[in-house]
Amino acid sequence: MCAEPLLAVLIGPGGVGKGTLARRLTEVDRRLWLSRSWTTRPRRGTETGDEYEFVDRATFERAIANHEFLEWAQFQGNLYGTPIPRTTGGADVLLEIEVQGAEQVRRQYHDAVVFLIVPPSIDHLEHRLRERGDTDEHVDRRLASTPDELRVGGALASYVIVNDDVERATAEILSILEKLRRERRSLA
Ligand code: 5GP
Repeated sequence: MCAEPLLAVLIGPGGVGKGTLARRLTEVDRRLWLSRSWTTRPRRGTETGDEYEFVDRATFERAIANHEFLEWAQFQGNLYGTPIPRTTGGADVLLEIEVQGAEQVRRQYHDAVVFLIVPPSIDHLEHRLRERGDTDEHVDRRLASTPDELRVGGALASYVIVNDDVERATAEILSILEKLRRERRSLA
């Protein structure tokens, strides 16, 4: 059991910087493998296309029917899902998902480590959301769902990380993962 890879999950409200943090974590720590999600959401103008596997709803629904997802959820009208990792080469797995998906992961993997990423302030979050080029309506919907995401996320989280600075938050998460790896090794 203890030799199994760690499963680390980043959750937190939209605009909090989970994506940037996830990418930075895998750049700094080569033992982390970042899962690439599927979504039916249209690509944003600011995205390159690597962020997700962008698919249509019929393709996504076929994958659900074929049990191809570790978890999936509908979030603000779009479907998002984590394909079952085929191979991670022994690396620890990192997911960056919303809270309904994290609840599913927790039910299947009780020892998944869930990090709730929170903004230094709500003003900061609003600024980040508006910067991404989403419509005002979309930003307002995301902000309206923030209290719920924080409440449900807080109940699920193993650790709460304030994303006041990407490098600092990355270092904090990596030091927790390192501690957990040491604990696993000593139990093995
Ligand atoms: P966005 O549309 O802003 O890229 O993502 C919306 C939300 O969906 C974010 O909270 C993001 O973390 C989450 N998300 C991204 N990929 C997945 C996934 O595979 N599964 C679930 N459940 N949520 C995801």
